[in-house]
Amino acid sequence: MVESTESESRKLLGRLREAMAGDNPGQARLDKITHLIADSIGTQVCSVYLFRDDDTLELCASEGLNVESVHQTRMRIGEGLVGRVAKFGKVINTPDAPNAKGFRYMPETGEERFSSFLGVPIQRLGEMLGVLVVQSNDAREFSSDAVYALEVVAMVIAEMTELGAFVGEGAALSPLHQQAVLLSGTAAQEGAAEGHVWLHEPRVLVTNPFADDPEREQVRLCEAVEHLRMGVDKMLEISQNGDKEQLEVLEAYRMFANSKGWMRRMEEDIARGLSAEAAVEKEQSQARARLSQAQDAYLRERLSDLDDLSNRLLRILTGQGAETGADLPEDPILVARNIGPAELLEYGRNLKGIVLEEGSVGSHAAIVARALAIPLVVNAKRISTEALNGDHIMVDGEQGVVHLRPDDTVVGAFRDKIAMLAQAQQRYASIRDKPAITLDGQKINLVMNAGLMADLPSLENSGAEGVGLFRTELQFLVRNQMPRRSELVALYKRVLDAAHGKRVVFRTLDIGSDKVLPYMKPNDEPNPALGWRAIRVGLDKPGIMRMQLQALMRAADGRPLTVMFPFVAQAEEYRAARDEVTKTLERERILGHALPESLEIGAMLETPSLAFAPQKFFDDVGFVSVGGNDLKQFFFAADRENERVRKRYDSLNVSFLSLIEQIVERCAISGTPLSFCGEDAGRPIEAVCLAAMGMHTLSMRPASIGPVKSLLMRVNLADLRRVIFASRHRGDQSVREAVMRYLREI
Ligand code: PEP
Ligand code: MG
Repeated sequence: MVESTESESRKLLGRLREAMAGDNPGQARLDKITHLIADSIGTQVCSVYLFRDDDTLELCASEGLNVESVHQTRMRIGEGLVGRVAKFGKVINTPDAPNAKGFRYMPETGEERFSSFLGVPIQRLGEMLGVLVVQSNDAREFSSDAVYALEVVAMVIAEMTELGAFVGEGAALSPLHQQAVLLSGTAAQEGAAEGHVWLHEPRVLVTNPFADDPEREQVRLCEAVEHLRMGVDKMLEISQNGDKEQLEVLEAYRMFANSKGWMRRMEEDIARGLSAEAAVEKEQSQARARLSQAQDAYLRERLSDLDDLSNRLLRILTGQGAETGADLPEDPILVARNIGPAELLEYGRNLKGIVLEEGSVGSHAAIVARALAIPLVVNAKRISTEALNGDHIMVDGEQGVVHLRPDDTVVGAFRDKIAMLAQAQQRYASIRDKPAITLDGQKINLVMNAGLMADLPSLENSGAEGVGLFRTELQFLVRNQMPRRSELVALYKRVLDAAHGKRVVFRTLDIGSDKVLPYMKPNDEPNPALGWRAIRVGLDKPGIMRMQLQALMRAADGRPLTVMFPFVAQAEEYRAARDEVTKTLERERILGHALPESLEIGAMLETPSLAFAPQKFFDDVGFVSVGGNDLKQFFFAADRENERVRKRYDSLNVSFLSLIEQIVERCAISGTPLSFCGEDAGRPIEAVCLAAMGMHTLSMRPASIGPVKSLLMRVNLADLRRVIFASRHRGDQSVREAVMRYLREI
């Protein structure tokens, strides 16, 4: 049976190849394909539906349905049987379509005459491109061999689509990778940039999906797999004495590279008429489809190992990829599905912009991009499949918009915007050395957030009065192993040197939640954001905390030192941490090291509970810094990493402002210095409102200091406070509208 299907699908692929070889326009090719498939499988209907846009499928060619319905019939993803195949990425095979779940009657096609339906997704590497359908009068269920044959054909159609086989005159499809495309994502670092695409991991193009000579393809596959295995063995050999987790990953690679099942499936695909590359890609596509469904973290990791291995194999087979030696363009805009902070740091400031298909605003890659002040858009769906190396691209980090291969009008408008931004920067530069004093004479301290050495030049350029938050975990996150104390001493020393006596608030290690150290065993926690993180880890594993405190004291080397503990939820945690500082100080004294000239110890208020701590806590604590990102997430119970809920609750919501008011009052009673260091401090409108509520020190990214200062210098905080209180008194949910009205009039 398999024999006969093998030759059936091979025959079908052979005929398909002939159809593709001719010099026909795109539509004619697609028409011919549907005709051939219906003829070979013995059905009355064969149709190809392709995506017009993100959620609309269009009937692009059909043998057997009404000719007039081609390019007229459209459906949304999830609608009807075809829409369901596309939505779930799964085959639907039914002998009685009109009574199948989800069936939608489309009179224009005349399809009520057909009983059985077999639809398979047309997808390439997990990207859904359309649906291939056969239908017949008789009530039959298609055999698994027929399903397989259709899947193979669908994959070839996907490859051909990618290669632009259906475009040109009489096009069935609009040309992929040629049109101007506008993609909307999420703004993660402001700024606008124009440049050319640099794919972090260039996609491999399979130029011939058909096996001209199956035996030769089998040999090519065997040789490439052998090459791959040798490469993995070599990596293992080099890493023998290295990191244990890296070794585990490589062992998993070796296991896959030697997997008989994987090899057998690819050999079968070749026997059925696919080229070696297409066979690898077919298996990779299926692994990706499983990856998108897999819930289990371990399984997901293994599937992505397999994905990576398939990429390597494809590169060996096609000679494409990293080995092509393509040069980074002069104005590179990095495009990737996702990227880790360490890899991003390697590119460094060479990049003019970054666009990620996944990622999130709070991710570490985003934090690094911010530190480097590179415009970043995350969540830009389809970018990694749409963009090709060298494409002209414009990134709007303010609006979260990406223009790929923009047309002239867009280019003109975008360049105007870049020029305007440059003008604004000049304006900010002119007030850089002026203090931020409001019209009613209140002085607001503007300090900056940092975390990398790369941030420190900004201390001068931005006019920041100091560093209000130095996130020390970044240094731990971008490495493959725990940094040594001496390395930390050297780094902190450089930070203090670069600050030239300005105050730097070092926050102790804030790990856990989304910040998982690559070399620490991950904790499988159901809710990591509410889990074992920050000071909780520090107190439970005091060794790391002590090492860091020691490093900070030695770096201070007789200079003033400021330390703050993240995520303090109750007073006792602060006290325990402060005791650690005292003990460390004593140990340093005994060891004969120079002690800091002065030592300030503060707590970050990031959970609502701390705002309601006994007043004694506010008396005792050296200073309080509100971590608005976390505080907001816990106050509204809205995950800061979840794009769906992140923006649902306004920071100018009166409940949140009342919490801020309470914190300001409690600190004022004790005379405790207070600052705010979440992202909102860097948003001009939010910042002036926080200042009006009594937050007189704001810590933000360096690039925000200019815009925030510029607005602060134009407002009267007492008036603004009255506007906020009146809005709250009226019962508004958020004071934003009232504030905007006031700001428009100043
Ligand atoms: C915060 O939570 O507001 C904060 C400043 O800390 P991070 O963003 O590093 O969690
Ligand atoms: Mg925080």
